[in-house]
Amino acid sequence: MKHKILFCVIAFCLLLGSAVFVGAMPIGSEPDQRQNADSDELSFTSPHLTIKYSPNIRLRTVNKRLSLYFRDFVLDRKRPRKFENDEIEIAFKLNKIRRKVMSILDMRPPEMKISVKIFKNQNELDNFYYSLFHSSNTRRIISFYIHSHKTIYTTERAISSELIAHEMAHAVLRHYFRVRPPTNVDELMAQYAETHLHD
Ligand SMILES: [Zn+2]
Repeated sequence: MKHKILFCVIAFCLLLGSAVFVGAMPIGSEPDQRQNADSDELSFTSPHLTIKYSPNIRLRTVNKRLSLYFRDFVLDRKRPRKFENDEIEIAFKLNKIRRKVMSILDMRPPEMKISVKIFKNQNELDNFYYSLFHSSNTRRIISFYIHSHKTIYTTERAISSELIAHEMAHAVLRHYFRVRPPTNVDELMAQYAETHLHD
């Protein structure tokens, strides 16, 4: 596996119980960018996905880390030659990953809308982890999906297309099945989606 250390730990989903997803962002549509008045968190949205991030995040870096070398992206004739800004390109890429994961799993849950929260670094993610579970992230998990939040959490440093595909698969599975699959099955299917992202 490319991501030996990438544990979405579906157990988290078990602990917190509970759904999203990322949808197709119409090409050329501007993500709605805003700042939450109650925090330093920034965000931008597309029809099926909201991207939230710490203000000190470098979106250029995030954008570069999301490589999409698979056929239906490279050969997408509707793909703009140049994106207006990183927000639009990131939303476009994440949506492509969402659609590819759904295609790989052959599962297309309707009404799935999720968020991706990007922390600046592992310390920020670990602090958030502690606030959720009241225990330290001793396994140094670099990403996870919380179904009750309908959110994928990761960091600027860790984010990649494969990581998002893996976590996105967990989101799709949780939305698709009325009864959550066994943990091992869930994890195997997420790894399958990650592995075949670039097919
Ligand atoms: Zn996982």
